[in-house]
Amino acid sequence: MNAKIFDREELSRWVANQRSLGFKVGFTCGAFDILHAGHVEYLTRAREYCDRLVAAVNSDSSIRTYKSPLRPINTEEQRQFVLAGLEAVDAVTLMHEVRPAPLLELLKPDVYIKGGDYSTEQLKSKALIESYGGQVVCIPIAFPTSTSDILKRAALLSLHEDAPRAERKGEQRLVFLDRDGTLIRDVPFLHDPSLVELMPGVLEGLRMLEDAGFTLVLITNQQGIGLGYYTEHEFIEVNRALLRKVAPAGINIARIYYCPHSQADLCQCRKPGSLLLENALRYYGVKPERCYLIGDSAADCVAGERLRIPSIVISGDTPVQECTQTGRSFTDAVNWIMASEAQLAAPTLA
Ligand SMILES: [Mg+2]
Repeated sequence: MNAKIFDREELSRWVANQRSLGFKVGFTCGAFDILHAGHVEYLTRAREYCDRLVAAVNSDSSIRTYKSPLRPINTEEQRQFVLAGLEAVDAVTLMHEVRPAPLLELLKPDVYIKGGDYSTEQLKSKALIESYGGQVVCIPIAFPTSTSDILKRAALLSLHEDAPRAERKGEQRLVFLDRDGTLIRDVPFLHDPSLVELMPGVLEGLRMLEDAGFTLVLITNQQGIGLGYYTEHEFIEVNRALLRKVAPAGINIARIYYCPHSQADLCQCRKPGSLLLENALRYYGVKPERCYLIGDSAADCVAGERLRIPSIVISGDTPVQECTQTGRSFTDAVNWIMASEAQLAAPTLA
């Protein structure tokens, strides 16, 4: 498949041969699951400590043991193949063990190289390497990237995708939720995740809605992106902070729809436009009358009422004309939804 990929016996012979030619052999190991800039940078620097770099790839079963039963993403064959394609790597092998000690003992590399912030003192293999006169080198990771971060980001972004073309017919009932001023305290142009603070009653209210079988969908205007006050990435980090606050209560915000445009863009998606709501209805294949909307501004309610979605605005003491119902708090809004549902479920009198 690739001339750089060796089984253990072949590798042992190859290493002996390289050494007999006068080359200094380096060794490193890892999962190398989804290869990113941090890996490439690390391996390039590792190669500077030797003339020939051997990279041992943890087998699928060893990763399942030491990392997670859900990992790796890529198979051991593919991970070896990708690594063998790198200029910095001269030889690749599979490592079935969780720890590299058996391979180190077999190959006795001149340099053992580890990435990350381990101090060399902490390395368990240090004594072994030094027992035959080898050297241990630790290279700090330059790019702040990790496979786990990439996966988290991918998972979160999938919540933000556009509605797919295919119609998905469902029996779900949705509650559309505004974010700023409704679920979390309204901070103008919020982009600092540490400022995310749930409004009173939100945790309990969302829990009630979920228990009643509603799917929770966030619909939010974010003109700060369009105006350049913060990036999409910062917006996502704020959402992540919100999700982290509600997750321990078992609350799942199923999808997040957002408008990144400024008012001047005159888009269809910025509330009071109803495009985001329409997209969500289409995605779930749900009729508006099976939904509710909770917001804190007239724009939220106009968007909802346009589609005949019963809309409740939390406005403190200021009544808002456009909405179906006004509440003073998130709790009021949820109670009103529950009461409406109870009424719908009640048998009608003849
Ligand atoms: Mg709001």
